[in-house]
Order: sequence, then C-alpha cells, then structure tokens
Amino acid sequence: MAGAQETRDGVGLTNLGQPLLAGGEVTKRDLVDYLDAVRDRILPGLRDRPLSVVRLLRGQEPFMQKNLPTYTPEWVRRTAIWAETSHRQVSYALCDDRRTLLWFANQRAVEYHPALVTATHPEQPTHLVLDLDPPEGDAFPAVARVAGAVRRALADVGLAGAVKTSGGKGLHIFVPVHPDTSAEEVAAATRALAVHTERLDPESATTAFIREDRGGRVFVDPTRSGGATVVAAYSPRLRPGLPVSFPVAWDDLDAVTPGDFTVRTVPALLGERDPWAGAMPAPQRLPADLVAEGRTI
Ligand code: ATP
Ligand code: MN
Ligand code: MN
Repeated sequence: MAGAQETRDGVGLTNLGQPLLAGGEVTKRDLVDYLDAVRDRILPGLRDRPLSVVRLLRGQEPFMQKNLPTYTPEWVRRTAIWAETSHRQVSYALCDDRRTLLWFANQRAVEYHPALVTATHPEQPTHLVLDLDPPEGDAFPAVARVAGAVRRALADVGLAGAVKTSGGKGLHIFVPVHPDTSAEEVAAATRALAVHTERLDPESATTAFIREDRGGRVFVDPTRSGGATVVAAYSPRLRPGLPVSFPVAWDDLDAVTPGDFTVRTVPALLGERDPWAGAMPAPQRLPADLVAEGRTI
C-alpha cells in the first residue's frame, strides 16, 4: 500500500527503498537491515558511551552529529557534556538498545563513533587505542606489518590488545585498561607505545605529525585518547559499498583487505561467537615505567 510504513521495535522506518549514496546500489534498507542484524555485536561497544554519528541526509554533504536534534524522541537516553571549545552543553545520545539503534539508522546515521569513556565514568578511558593510518596509495600490507610491530611493542611491556579494520584505510588496536587508569596515564602510555613501535620498525612506522615528514610510512597516531572517539567495531563507514570496521585475528592480518568487510558481506561472517569481544583481553594496568616514559615525550 502506498505510504505504508514499516515499524520495528516501535520505531517507524521510512523511505527504505531510497538509495543511500548517490549512484550507489546500497539502499537505506540495506543500512537498517545491516545494523539490525549486527545489533547484538555493535551495541556492547556503544552502550553508555557519548555517541557521535555521521549522518547522510539526501542531497546534503555528510556531517558529524554530536548534539541531539530537538526532535529526538524523549526515550533516547542522553548525557550532557560541557564543550570547552564552543562554550555550551552538548547533549550526546547513549545508544543502549535496539530501538535507539534503529532510530539512528532511520535518521541515516551511517557511522557510529562512541567516546572512549562512559557516561558513568566520564574521566576514565576504558581503552588505550593505537590508530594506524597508511600513507597515500594502496598501503594496507604496510599497515598490517606495522600492526605486528605494535603487537610486539605491547608484548615487550606485558600488554595485549585486539585489532580491527577501521573500515577506512587503516587499523585500530584496542587495549582495555584497568578502571584505576587516568586519562593522562593512557595518553602518556599511548605516546610511549607509538614511539616503541616506530623504533621496532623505523622503515614502515612513523609518529611524525607533519605529513611531509612521514616519508611514505604508516602513521602511528600517538594522540588518540581520553575525550576522543574511535569508530565502533561493526560500524559501517560512509564510503562506496559501505565497508565495516571489523575485527581481525592477529595472525590473519596478512590475509585480509579492508574491502572484505562490508554491510553486504559481514552478516554472513558472523558465527555464534562475537569475534571482537572474543579477541579482547581483560583490562590491564599500564606499567608505571611506560607511563613515566610517555610523560617525557
Ligand atoms: P582510517 O583508517 O581511514 O584512518 P579512521 O576511523 O581511523 O579511518 P582517523 O581520521 O584516523 O579515521 O580518525 C580516528 C578516529 O578519530 C575516527 O574513527 C573518529 O572516531 C575520530 N575522528 C577523526 N576525525 C574526526 C572529526 N573530524 N570529528 C570527530 N571525530 C573524529
Ligand atoms: Mn585511522
Ligand atoms: Mn588517524
């Protein structure tokens, strides 16, 4: 029937047949169906975390939405955070359940970027993250190689992490940290680990902020921490074919490319166990000498 609206979990879903990206084959239904299919996997990484989303409205440039619009239903949980730069309160959504996820999907929210802190403990990062960014060109093998160096740098100081594709060009390595860890300690340890990685493989890895100084090497970002966001595992990315940020076993990094994981391919790759939760080690204490070293960098 013309105008008939589909409802899931009480959320009205509209214009599902419309293409999502201009000229692409992916429809809004593909986005909604994908997020609903992976909800049990993506929600644990979003729950209780101030959420930013990248929305793609028809005929507009995509934009990152932090502050919730006034028309947001009252049942969407939220938390107010003071934004120092713009001198105002930002009302962030907390995407805790299926209906909130479906509401965002219907809002054409394609990318899901949770904070590295929770609303319950906004001063405490839950993870240390190493963000690996390739130089120009098809450099994923180099990123995979540098991920191996990060793994060794972590092991050298008794730490372990889990790795996922960003869904863009690079990789993210997550190290869960003990709740006693401060944002400043996480930031210092991130810098120290990035520098250790550069030392282990100076031909492939760099911590140089200036692009021209990177010399075709993979950038190990020493600054991801604290108030920052990182795209969630299982989140789609706003690129042709809607690739997905997807966990990879350390030993499989050489055998995959980021394009293997899209909203079309990922649901079939999901078995009984959650590969991201399954790969994640227990929260760890950061070694004091690593933190002390990072404070000097
Ligand atoms: P790629 O692999 O292509 O680098 P990425 O997601 O790692 O993809 P980065 O630019 O390296 O992209 O950024 C790392 C993370 O930092 C992102 O996942 C995102 O959550 C956050 N971020 C980056 N740029 C912005 C921005 N302009 N506003 C808000 N958050 C951002
Ligand atoms: Mn990156
Ligand atoms: Mn980056």
